[in-house]
Amino acid sequence: MDPVKLRIAAEVDSLAGDLYGVSEFLYQNPEIGYQEFKACEFLGRFMEEHGFRAEKGVGGVQTAFLARPAHRPRGRPCVAFLAEYDALPGVGHGCGHNLIAAASVGAALALSRHLDGVQGTLALVGTPAEEGGGGKILLAEAGVFAEMDTAMMCHPGRLNRPGEEMFGRVKFKAEFFGQAAHASVSPDRGINALDALVAAYNNISMLRQQIRPDARIHGIITHGGEAPNIIPQYAAGLFYVRAATRNYRDEVFQKVQKCIEAGATAAGAGYKIEIGLPNFDPIKRNPPLERALRENMEGLGISIDPDDGRRGSSDIGNLSFYLPAIHPSVAIVDPLVPGHSRVFAEATMTPRGKDALVKAAKFLAMTGYDFLASSELRKKVQESFQEPG
Ligand SMILES: [Zn+2]
Ligand SMILES: [Zn+2]
Repeated sequence: MDPVKLRIAAEVDSLAGDLYGVSEFLYQNPEIGYQEFKACEFLGRFMEEHGFRAEKGVGGVQTAFLARPAHRPRGRPCVAFLAEYDALPGVGHGCGHNLIAAASVGAALALSRHLDGVQGTLALVGTPAEEGGGGKILLAEAGVFAEMDTAMMCHPGRLNRPGEEMFGRVKFKAEFFGQAAHASVSPDRGINALDALVAAYNNISMLRQQIRPDARIHGIITHGGEAPNIIPQYAAGLFYVRAATRNYRDEVFQKVQKCIEAGATAAGAGYKIEIGLPNFDPIKRNPPLERALRENMEGLGISIDPDDGRRGSSDIGNLSFYLPAIHPSVAIVDPLVPGHSRVFAEATMTPRGKDALVKAAKFLAMTGYDFLASSELRKKVQESFQEPG
């Protein structure tokens, strides 16, 4: 292994105790999206104590931050390590974002101490509200990444992967408007909004059989009426449409809208569809950067798992259309353990979780180093990024 990378790895080892502390603080203080005040304060202070300058509230997002090495002039190329730190209602860090933040903190600190002989610099960007809030999208739109050349983070999970596909996503509310009436005395004078919703739901269920395997539609009913003896005048549901490309996501969403319209027509009800922005894009993968990452993972003794075809969505997808981005995963649980669960949160605190944290900090820092040290890699990464996706 490159001697600088060996020194970077040793640097992460010497920081390990501090990194567990970062992960544990976040674990003990879970905050949901855009409420991560303690996390933002803690991480900003931690970085300042370790030779960085931290700016809070970047991009107009109160719980976002940007930390740069105090000793290094700003410049290009710039590697951005992303720290997520939002938790989930009810299950705390059931998505393991405490470990994501700690790994990126470790990568930023370790790399910042081994920049001699390379061009450019790095930054740690605190990106709030990944769970549905799309913090990275707001930061990208506000120009926070304008002077950065690549973005990287690592998500804990059930597999060791240098990257995987993600679904683009549209979330929306469907509302149906009918007419209330006595359900026994004058049902003929009512218009049943619940019937409209049920018909729409069934239309969507049938549509599901005719869509490609790289798409998903799922939803819940949030309003279904007030009492059995009143014809429901209002019904509503929340739905997600996901697909592996932006085009197919939008195509399926068009069809879903027809399903909803047809349900409303059948019941004689009115309807309204309200899209909950931001839409998530699928991830634009960057094979040259993933190859560099994969070599570093393997160099640390991590064996790469085959892709199991399971997909989620994340705001890193949108970001990957602004600049080359990678989103590897490290296994902290066995494949049958579900994400977004208490068990998963607890796994971040186990010896396996801690080992994954240290490894993730190492391979992120090493890949950041590759990017800064090799103009050839940067050229390939940029060429891949320019390809239509
Ligand atoms: Zn999650
Ligand atoms: Zn997550």
